[in-house]
Amino acid sequence: MMRLESSPEDAGRAIAAAERAYATWRLVPAPKRAELLFRAAQLIAERKETFARDMTREMGKVLEETRGDVQEAIDMTFFMAGEGRRLYGQTVPSELRDKFAMSVRQPLGVCGIITPWNFPMAIPSWKIIPALVCGNTVVFKPSSLTPLSAINFVKVLEEAGVPAGVVNMVTGGPEVGEILCKHDAVKVVSFTGSTTVGRIVNQNAAPTFKKVHLEMGGKNIVMIMDDAQLELAVEGCVWGGFGTTGQRCTAASRVVVHERVYDEFLSEFSRRVRALRVGDGADDRVQMGPSISESQLQTVMKYVEIGKEEGAKVVVGGKRLTGGAYARGWFHEPTIFAEVSPSMRIAREEIFGPVVSVMRCRSLDEAIAIGNDVAYGLSASIYTRDINKAFTAMRDLYTGIFYVNAPTIGAEVHLPFGGTKATGNGHREAGIAALDVFSEWKSIYVDFSGKLQRAQIDTE
Ligand code: NAD
Repeated sequence: MMRLESSPEDAGRAIAAAERAYATWRLVPAPKRAELLFRAAQLIAERKETFARDMTREMGKVLEETRGDVQEAIDMTFFMAGEGRRLYGQTVPSELRDKFAMSVRQPLGVCGIITPWNFPMAIPSWKIIPALVCGNTVVFKPSSLTPLSAINFVKVLEEAGVPAGVVNMVTGGPEVGEILCKHDAVKVVSFTGSTTVGRIVNQNAAPTFKKVHLEMGGKNIVMIMDDAQLELAVEGCVWGGFGTTGQRCTAASRVVVHERVYDEFLSEFSRRVRALRVGDGADDRVQMGPSISESQLQTVMKYVEIGKEEGAKVVVGGKRLTGGAYARGWFHEPTIFAEVSPSMRIAREEIFGPVVSVMRCRSLDEAIAIGNDVAYGLSASIYTRDINKAFTAMRDLYTGIFYVNAPTIGAEVHLPFGGTKATGNGHREAGIAALDVFSEWKSIYVDFSGKLQRAQIDTE
């Protein structure tokens, strides 16, 4: 029988190839490395529609969104390729005469890249491209649910002229992923996925002191104040909660609404969500696709039951969609729970599906307290017309991303992306911050005085 997944031996070979290629790739001038990446970005742009259609076919996200996913990979590749002519370090004055002081970024070696299925091209680009521009080589293991988008991306890099061995792809699940985390030759592991697996990745990487970058789960909140522009807030919550079928780490799965506008918001939010067209992502009229897999659908259904048992009220949806066009996928109704209390599991745990929990609050302080009172810290947002409230919330929500008058999703590639608490381990991807994951600082002192000068001692 043909083996569809890489074997542990394949993973070992990929790491060895990356190790060999590193010896020469790290010495290619960064602007030259970047030229190849610019070419790759152009190729992806030319094939955007094909890649988007492949992605919709592969994982069900609606076409408009898979086009966005591919666009994000294009944006990231162009942005990071630009770093090939920067990769700025610092030059500083020395405290001693005739001495020069500077810092430079140096690559680390082989990077193990492990990614989830929900952004099958964007997330790999966030990791692979900064790794390459810094001079590292890569072994990439995508989710076993989305290998086609991963292959599309890697093939473009090959076609753009990235030399053999610099980017290596392996398929498979935990067995192969664990090799990347444990192997001595892998110097960085950059992982995006669930908090449960992120913890295992961290533990497996610890004995070899790898640099570990983790982007994990979320339970993001939209806070709606009584002075908010309600129509805008409703629109934001529909997109934030049900875009990508709620399968975004930044999904707005919690909404807390000031009691004075709670009923009005809920009624309009429910009306809009009931009208969402669910179905085949390749159909342009469809607004929400299926869950990625049967097991993800089971998780959604399990949480709907938990919510009901906890005493929350299903005001929209609540059931699996079956029959007719739904027979060929894992579809679930977009679902809203109302009268949710912050202590319920549906308000605290990541569901990763089309389920939004709506809660009530009496003040901004209470909304902020509810917002912070979860294990995760990825994204939060506030709808208000009061600038004082906006700035207070901006300061007090302990998350990595914050929005004003927009939902919890919508990050752009040139600012840092990531979260606090159980969402992340202090690193960020995207923006210039991504370079910190894939490079290490080297401080260099050049003494041209011709004599021994002792720092902190020869002070005259
Ligand atoms: P997952 O944790 O199940 O898998 C992620 C990746 O890890 C996959 O490639 C998988 O094969 C691999 N893997 C599984 N076990 C492993 C092990 N023991 N060692 C090494 N690798 C292993 O996540 P998923 O279901 O693919 O994605 C959904 C999750 O990803 C959600 O929790 C979501 O919040 C999170 N996510 C986070 C971000 C972020 O930036 N914070 C972005 C997107 C998705």
